[in-house]
Amino acid sequence: MNLSHIEHVGIAVKSLEEAIPFWEEKLGLKCYKIEEVKEQKVKTAFFQIGQSKIELLESTDPDGPIGKFIEKKGEGIHHLAIAVKDIQQNLTELDEKDVLLIDKTPRKGAEGLDIAFVHPKSTHGVLLELCENNNR
Ligand code: ZN
Repeated sequence: MNLSHIEHVGIAVKSLEEAIPFWEEKLGLKCYKIEEVKEQKVKTAFFQIGQSKIELLESTDPDGPIGKFIEKKGEGIHHLAIAVKDIQQNLTELDEKDVLLIDKTPRKGAEGLDIAFVHPKSTHGVLLELCENNNR
């Protein structure tokens, strides 16, 4: 395994427009990007804190993963993302260790990252995202 740092924390919100002012006006951060990820049926907003980010997620479709999450659990932390080197190698290793993977091969996420999810059943309740930046 080759884990680097906490890349971001994903937070499900009902509305970016309503949630962004908390992070900007109360905490003094700046939203540096809003991006729609069509395949995931979400609109995302990003804030940088040191080496890590906060990723707010608003559903664009009630049947999408974030829409369903909010309906079941309400707003709140949705996933934890850890930056790794050689994401495919890490996934292969986890698979060999019988860790339950949602994605056995990486796909494209927000910010052009290669991402893959590990099932909360294997992590004691946390939806874990592994991600790798292959753009720079
Ligand atoms: Zn994420």
